[in-house]
Amino acid sequence: MTASALPETMRVSVLREAGQLELADWPVPRPGPGEVLVAVRSVGVCGSDVHYFQHGRIGDFVVRAPLVLGHEAAGRIAAVGAGVDAGRVGARVAIEPGAACGACGECKAGRYNLCPDMRFFATPPVDGALAEYVTVRADLAFDLPDAVSDDDAALLEPLSVGIWATGKAQLTAGSSVLIAGAGPIGLVTAQVARARGATTIAVTDIAAHRLAAALRNGATLALDAGDGPAAGLEFDAFVDCSGAPSAISAGIAALRPAGRAVLVGMGPDEITVPRWQPGTGSRPPAFPRRCRPGSTATRC
Ligand SMILES: [Zn+2]
Ligand SMILES: [Zn+2]
Repeated sequence: MTASALPETMRVSVLREAGQLELADWPVPRPGPGEVLVAVRSVGVCGSDVHYFQHGRIGDFVVRAPLVLGHEAAGRIAAVGAGVDAGRVGARVAIEPGAACGACGECKAGRYNLCPDMRFFATPPVDGALAEYVTVRADLAFDLPDAVSDDDAALLEPLSVGIWATGKAQLTAGSSVLIAGAGPIGLVTAQVARARGATTIAVTDIAAHRLAAALRNGATLALDAGDGPAAGLEFDAFVDCSGAPSAISAGIAALRPAGRAVLVGMGPDEITVPRWQPGTGSRPPAFPRRCRPGSTATRC
């Protein structure tokens, strides 16, 4: 497809203010130099999107002008800008939603996720992907194999959070890990922990249906957070995907000596970190354990 075959306008879901989404007709953007235009096929709805919808802000990021939500996206390249291989038109791609500057100290150090000049989809003032077309830097549109569906491809962005977190937690074959929170990020973290070879993957939550989902998605042990989850157990690593201060305290207390704590969840501005005390826990039972698929039991 050439740019001239593109429609003039597209439908876009626009957040006007907290609680007010509307469908609008906007001009189809044209890819600039080094960019591709993606016809969006699937967009995940992140907790941050829901937060912007409900509250109109996340911390210092405030919706002051109409904002397009959605940063977990996949689609098909519909056009390319100057300097991009025209052979990419038609390719199915997953979109990396954050464009770092590439020039600052953090970027140069390989930590481009920390770039202070990051431009991230669906974060004011950058529009997101709940639109029929979006432009993105060509190197942030990743080609997909046919085996990965559009919906699965949209979930690569949250999956990457689990990959990063379990890498920070240094999970490897035989590791034991405690994961607090069985929302989508907790679940992808459990799945990646399993893929990295962790043999004990305990997940805590307060909701029984989420614990059941954890058991279907990599957890070997599901624990009700209300029960003082980690009491008596000891883990190589703790990954918080809840943001709940009580879960963070319990998780750190459940670490073995030299254990690693990784905080992923967004909680209050300040939390209290407990003084770690050695030698109270025992190693939890290792995988394989029998898990009843679909069970709502909190242990397997
Ligand atoms: Zn997200
Ligand atoms: Zn940078």
